Amino acid sequence: MTSWNHTPDLPLTVNPLFERPFKPAAVVRWYVGSWLPVSINLGIVVLSFLCVWFLSPNLDDASSPGLWMLGILLRNTVIVTFLAWGLHWWFHSGQKQGLTGKYDPRPFPRSGRMFTGGSQLVDNVTWTLASAVPIWSAFEILIWVSLAQGWAPETTFADTPIWFVLVFLLIPIWESFYFYWIHRVLHSNVLYRFHALHHRNTDVGPWSGLSMHPVEHLLYFGTVLIHFVVPTHPVHVVCHLMYFALTAVITHTGFEGIWVRGRKRIHMGMFHHQMHHRFFECNYGSLEMPWDKFFGTFHDGTDDADNRMRDRLKGRSR
Ligand SMILES: [Zn+2]
Ligand SMILES: [Zn+2]
Repeated sequence: MTSWNHTPDLPLTVNPLFERPFKPAAVVRWYVGSWLPVSINLGIVVLSFLCVWFLSPNLDDASSPGLWMLGILLRNTVIVTFLAWGLHWWFHSGQKQGLTGKYDPRPFPRSGRMFTGGSQLVDNVTWTLASAVPIWSAFEILIWVSLAQGWAPETTFADTPIWFVLVFLLIPIWESFYFYWIHRVLHSNVLYRFHALHHRNTDVGPWSGLSMHPVEHLLYFGTVLIHFVVPTHPVHVVCHLMYFALTAVITHTGFEGIWVRGRKRIHMGMFHHQMHHRFFECNYGSLEMPWDKFFGTFHDGTDDADNRMRDRLKGRSR
């Protein structure tokens, strides 16, 4: 088995909501664990409210083109730069916790001719700022205009309070479903040429999360087109896109989380996806919904799963 510097408890397990026999207590623990008391998910919801209150147009402004569009691009650029640069400094350039919690033992970042500019960091920063952020912002602007013009259905907390709250909880579940499928399509012969850019990174850092080809960004942030179908509020749109953008940065640090004084304080990494970067042909989705289990592409990190994956790939190339 390929050696790792750090792994979580193995085998990896998926969201117990989809496991049988049904264990309600385990489901409650999974959701409490992924939302409370302080979590990335909750942080993104809070940030979305702050953005909508202080750093966004209102729906009147959004009904016509204006400087607010530039404001969205600028706000998203600043947030991603702050987050990815901060995490890169903590984990990699500043080495604030050494190798504690780092999955891959190899040093990061690397250099090589496969990278834009010959450097993994330059490559990753370039594709994030020159492609990911503009495409993310363009989709956000599209939905702001559509809500303002009435092309997309709108709701408010006063209209539908339960639905308003539920949408936030549905975003990670939807992401697990949507991402699994576009990711599998990106691994097809037709589209892999685009996805290969993300896979230049066999080990990852925060800037690798959004380092993708523009075609992949269009598919990835295209998730937000669902707001043309389901009634939502602008804060849901901002949160939905930020969830896709910021969790990509956060789950690609290459580390399981932030350790301070010998204890993991914030959980971040996804060993599940780290294995995808090392092995390519497994773990297309996330642990939130068991798509990989249904379709036989799940690698739980154990030697058995490693052997199963190798058999499956041998069978395919025959
Ligand atoms: Zn990735
Ligand atoms: Zn992939």
